[in-house]
Amino acid sequence: MTPEESNGSSQDASADPRSGDDGVNGANGAARPLVERFDVALLDLDGVVYVGTDPVPGVADAITAVRRRGMRVTFVTNNASRSPADVAKLLGSVGVDAVAADVVTAAQAGARVLAERIPRGAAVLIVGGDALRDEVEAFGLTPVHSADDHPAGVIQGYHPSVGYRDLAEATVAVRAGAVWIVTNGDLTIPSARGILPGNGALVQVVRTATGTPPVVTGKPEPALHQESVRRSGARRPIVVGDRLDTDIEGAARAGCPSLLVLSGVTTPSELLAADAGHRPTYLAENVSGLLHAHRHPDRRDGGWRLCGWFAAEEDDALTLSWHGTAAQPDRLDALRVLCAASWTTGSADGRGGVRVRASGDDATAATESLQLRS
Ligand SMILES: [Mg+2]
Repeated sequence: MTPEESNGSSQDASADPRSGDDGVNGANGAARPLVERFDVALLDLDGVVYVGTDPVPGVADAITAVRRRGMRVTFVTNNASRSPADVAKLLGSVGVDAVAADVVTAAQAGARVLAERIPRGAAVLIVGGDALRDEVEAFGLTPVHSADDHPAGVIQGYHPSVGYRDLAEATVAVRAGAVWIVTNGDLTIPSARGILPGNGALVQVVRTATGTPPVVTGKPEPALHQESVRRSGARRPIVVGDRLDTDIEGAARAGCPSLLVLSGVTTPSELLAADAGHRPTYLAENVSGLLHAHRHPDRRDGGWRLCGWFAAEEDDALTLSWHGTAAQPDRLDALRVLCAASWTTGSADGRGGVRVRASGDDATAATESLQLRS
């Protein structure tokens, strides 16, 4: 395959990651900037737009630039405790312009899935906050707070007010046969005080007591993605996220291209070890990656080459070396060739992570910057 053919196939592969390109999804190239290839960016929030309460540096300017180039931006969250208007206000507080219609929540996806399964006007037990109740009402259903009201459905989403009584009511209703929808299965949520129980942890209480599995609608399940596409009217969406097990897996399962940003929780080491269902189509430091074309590694000389970097598998590790002339070698291009090498050779399989041997000062600087273990 010539480099030209390789680039051509990568464009096709990036439009549909399932079509594959030597299995090198995250290292895929795009000859045109992503803002020109896709019409709507479906942006995750935490780790993409902000981290905790702080904006990701430069994110507001990047989103403004993306919009100026004609791409629309929809913010997609598994968090069911905030209304779209509340999320828009939060975005404003970190300098990102947004209105409620720019936001899609797992509560909206959950309410729609419920509305499709039970009669209009039916009673729904709310295990969650006002934002969840409002979405249920918006779909013509009747929120209740007791199993004695014989709810046809139960919807459960994170809210700090959820307590034993709510879980007990849900248990009674689910055991009586109510359709049980949960907005997401995240076991934990981050906080300033460390890890706290997420919606998934409380879902496990009801699941244990009922022996019934719920229907999950948040990422990585497809319902939230479908809701985001429906509400945004996206024809060529791209998912932008920081987590392999929610954003990227969700995109892969929906057959949607994805961009992993390194501004959140995923480390380069975790990315190298990702299995086929958790590999992004593209890779960037942050949201500004949407503004650029993405270079494509070429398979050559028993390894992978990209813009001066070369990576190959040797014994039980990957080797990385720099042969370019640029004054400042791009660490992301180094990671792209390493991903290509790791994902096509199975270096990550069964070894508890990928080891990378750097050859030369530039490669050493890149692996140290990426915090890869040797
Ligand atoms: Mg995130």
